[in-house]
Amino acid sequence: MSDADLNKERLELALEAAGLDLWENNLLTGEVTRKASKTFEELGFTEEEIVADVQGIYGLFHPDDLPRVQKAVEDHLSGRTAQYRCEFRLRSKQGEWIWFANYGRIMDGRSASPGQRLIGVTFNIDDRKRQEDEIAQINRQLVEQNALLQQLNTTLRLLAANDSLTGLSNRRTLMELGESECRRAERFGHPLSVMVVDIDLFKNVNDVWGHLAGDRVICAVADACAARTRAGIDTVARFGGEEFVLVLPETDRASALHLAESLRHVVASQSVVVNDEGATTSVTVSIGVATLVWGMGLTFEQLVNKADKALYQAKETGRNNVQCCADVWFRTERVK
Ligand code: GH3
Ligand code: MG
Ligand code: MG
Repeated sequence: MSDADLNKERLELALEAAGLDLWENNLLTGEVTRKASKTFEELGFTEEEIVADVQGIYGLFHPDDLPRVQKAVEDHLSGRTAQYRCEFRLRSKQGEWIWFANYGRIMDGRSASPGQRLIGVTFNIDDRKRQEDEIAQINRQLVEQNALLQQLNTTLRLLAANDSLTGLSNRRTLMELGESECRRAERFGHPLSVMVVDIDLFKNVNDVWGHLAGDRVICAVADACAARTRAGIDTVARFGGEEFVLVLPETDRASALHLAESLRHVVASQSVVVNDEGATTSVTVSIGVATLVWGMGLTFEQLVNKADKALYQAKETGRNNVQCCADVWFRTERVK
């Protein structure tokens, strides 16, 4: 056996073991001088059906991949790349798309016309591509599920922190925020006011118009409270059935009383649509105010209790009015 034959056998063995299919094109004539027979067999073509020219082979490429393949060839032929490398799908005889990769290079050897021969190998990468697709699909699903989870978390946080009827903060949120506002006011020596607002004779609304109408009235008063407070600074919470608490940082007694009076007036003058027929009713509110001017060790709950006592006085005084308890002084030496 000649050296050339032995080398040929060695090459065949190496190609076979690596699953590579060698091909060679004559770039001048466009003729396929060695066909990628194994690849065509994998695609389901018989020996006779194997496409014999470059244009014919291009006809088997997936239309989305073809421009990329042609560019990779051009880049190599024009010397922009040292090798021709590309991944693409080929159409099988049954019409399925199968992923392959090409790796090639211009090799002239002892050819009389330099730049004439493009030699390369084709190998099947379908399994790897399918796994990549599956992973990409799983990743997409994970991203979607993550977004959904975040939405649900936001909704859950809102549900946990807010009252479902009015959308205002609930009692739990109020106690947390109120306590930290109380600490802050004490630390910096700033005023903090708390207002307890209670709808007068609300039981009558339920008795006359029904519970759903009562709900609408509760919402209308909630809206009035929210509309009169500073977003991001004050806290408005539904404390109980028809009772609301407003926490007003940096607000002294005079300002709190002024706000309470204006809220009382607005509620008394608004008529609330209580059913789908458009019937309306109106309600009044009584408000108790307590202001912490400077203190130490006072809990938010104690401050709310003071405002609640003032509310009781407002009810005693005939309702539809505002009462405040004396300012809550603690470290009197700081207040001159
Ligand atoms: P006052 O002026 O002394 O506050 O009298 P009132 O009738 O407002 O007070 P009372 O505490 O006697 O009645 C409050 C009523 O609020 C009783 C309860 O049925 C009703 N209520 C509590 N929660 C809700 C609610 O979510 N929706 C409705 N429609 N009614 C509620
Ligand atoms: Mg009431
Ligand atoms: Mg009440």
